[in-house]
Order: sequence, then structure tokens, then C-alpha cells
Amino acid sequence: MNNNSESPQLVLCNACRLTTELAECCPRCGSRLHQRKPYSLQISAALLLTALFLLFPANALPITQTVNQGGNAYDTILSGIGFLFRSGMHGIGLIVFVASILVPVGKIIGLGVILATIALRLPLSKRQLTTAFHIIEFIGRWSMLDLFVIAIMVSVINIGQLLFALPAPAATYFALVILFTQLAAQQLDTRLLWDLEKDKNEQ
Ligand SMILES: [Zn+2]
Repeated sequence: MNNNSESPQLVLCNACRLTTELAECCPRCGSRLHQRKPYSLQISAALLLTALFLLFPANALPITQTVNQGGNAYDTILSGIGFLFRSGMHGIGLIVFVASILVPVGKIIGLGVILATIALRLPLSKRQLTTAFHIIEFIGRWSMLDLFVIAIMVSVINIGQLLFALPAPAATYFALVILFTQLAAQQLDTRLLWDLEKDKNEQ
């Protein structure tokens, strides 16, 4: 074990971002000080699991309801993408696939790997995982793009021979998947990842 007891232990106040010596409360804003966000791993894991479960209704339920002369027709995300490709709209089909399947699933898998690495102390590159986390956070700023594609899909189908199209229940679940994934990323204290390195060196 390293003995760093002579040097004062510095912490970052999560409320006002002041760096100060470890104490009960922040001397500037009075918030409670913690070395790491309390229960960050557990809260983040719970939010991520919620996002994962919501992914099922988001994909299984219809995302668009189209009304034509024959009556109502429903499309899930995947059948909607199939419709776009069959109609020769490959570009839009690809955008919808990337934004509504690839990106949300990729974000959940990426965060899952980061959480598993912290919880199970997996020997993965912390630097690469930190880069992955920054990418997930960056994509998060464009999250509404995922919802925007639903609007594109609905309007593209509208242009076709159909009378009109509406967003259906899956759109709500889809929005919740994006929301919970983003909250999970926000709750995670990524310093926990680097604590693994420190623990390893101290052993
Ligand atoms: Zn403070």
C-alpha cells in the first residue's frame, strides 16, 4: 500500500466544482463532499437496465400507423426500414437504421461494457473505455436526431400512396430508451474506472 497520508486528500465538489481538501461539507457552497458520486455505479446500472428493457417494446410495437384505402397498417422500426429499402429509398433507410438501431444499441452495449469493467474489475484498457465514454456522451447531444428520424419515416411514408401516417406507441418507448441511456451515462462517475488502475498499483 502507498502511504500518502502526509499530502492532503483533494476532492471535487459535485455541486460547485470547487477542488478542496476532503471534509464533511464544501467550504464554498455547503454541499456534502464525496470522493466519488455516491452509488454512481448502482444508479447508472439501474438506468441502463431500464433502457435495455424498454428497447424491446420500442422494437416490437409499431412505430408508425399508416392509413390507406384498405384500412390501418402498422410498421415496427425494422419493418419500416424494410419498407424504405424495398421502396428504393436506400439512403433514408440507412439513416433510419443507423440512428434508430445501431446508435441506441451501440450506446447501451458500450455503457454496459464500461459498467461491467468497473463492477467485475475486467482487465480492459481504461484509456479506450474513457474514449468510448466520451463518444457516447458526444452522441448523446445529438440524441434528438434519433427521434427526428421517426418524423422522417412518417413523412416519407406519407409521400407514398398512403393517405396519412402517425407515430405509434413505440415512439414513446423509443424516446424513453434514449432518455434512460443518457441518464445512465450522466450518473456514472468515470473516475471509478481509473480507481481500478490505482487499486492495481497499490496491491
Ligand atoms: Zn461546493
